[in-house]
Amino acid sequence: MKDIIEAAGMVLSAMPVGEYDKRVVLLTKQLGRITAFARGARRQNSPLLASTRPFTFGTFSLYAGRNSYTLQNAEITEYFEGMGTDLEAVAYGCYFAEIAEYYTREGVDESQMLNLLYVSLKALLTASIPNPLVRRIYELRAMVINGEYPQVFQCMECGKNLTSGKYRKQQGGMICLECRGKDYNTVLVHDAALYALQYVVTVPLQKLYCFTLRSDAFQEMEQVVEAGVNRFIDKKFHSLKVLEALQIDKNPVK
Ligand SMILES: [Zn+2]
Repeated sequence: MKDIIEAAGMVLSAMPVGEYDKRVVLLTKQLGRITAFARGARRQNSPLLASTRPFTFGTFSLYAGRNSYTLQNAEITEYFEGMGTDLEAVAYGCYFAEIAEYYTREGVDESQMLNLLYVSLKALLTASIPNPLVRRIYELRAMVINGEYPQVFQCMECGKNLTSGKYRKQQGGMICLECRGKDYNTVLVHDAALYALQYVVTVPLQKLYCFTLRSDAFQEMEQVVEAGVNRFIDKKFHSLKVLEALQIDKNPVK
């Protein structure tokens, strides 16, 4: 009898294998990001059918084989069922999961990314916060957890604390409006957008999705986060292409 390991986490992605099985990528507190084989998980009567869907949170019982884990059982606490009927939310969720997969590893306590995913998926299903804003908050906070992110507190030239300024895309940081340097590629960031950026970097996780922005402030914040993603995340995400295709369908060129 093999030792069963219990790991609390979520399903990041699931792939069909063979006729009835699945291979799932789990992000867990105890084991970090792992791949697990779920035998028979695509059979209609399998108890693993529902618990191996992406975004499902719970406690997974696994045993370790030579090359991968095998999923034995799962006790699910949150299915995020709302995702099932909201194609756009699913597209965002897949993108969030892909970023999490990029940042995480096996054998590392990944509870911070796990908790961020949880509150972010909740926020996607909350009508009061627009999903494009949820996306930018998630991207920035994921960068913060990983330790490399846009510097939005002090002027890179004179060091003074900022309430507005210019973001230098190539350098990943801000300068104040008084400081001049070379003619860098910059984004002008007014107080509302800068406050939002600073808030997302520092606030406790449970308060992360507690604000909205006017569209001009959102556009400034979006440009800074976008530039940060380009500078600090060296990968093109497949799920982002899907998401962008969906958005183009929804908002035909004006
Ligand atoms: Zn300055």
